Amino acid sequence: MLRGCAADDGRQVMHACQTCPVSDQGSPAICSAKGCQAAATWAVVWNNPRLHTPDREKVWVACDEHKQPLADYLAVRSFLKRVEPLE
Ligand SMILES: [Zn+2]
Repeated sequence: MLRGCAADDGRQVMHACQTCPVSDQGSPAICSAKGCQAAATWAVVWNNPRLHTPDREKVWVACDEHKQPLADYLAVRSFLKRVEPLE
């Protein structure tokens, strides 16, 4: 499994972005929301155009409960690209 801050692989899970509201603990299979230990079942794909080139994709993984809050957090900043089921 991939872990750590993403390099150029847009599919890579990242946790340590400076805009990220989440902790950097745990494995990529665990929800990115702070303090949540649930298994992640969603990939929230986003891009910050101030930090990233447009083709760069960042991914937060989320459980059912946190998929929407994380997506909303990004959406209000116009960072959200899409939400898709985690494989
Ligand atoms: Zn969660």
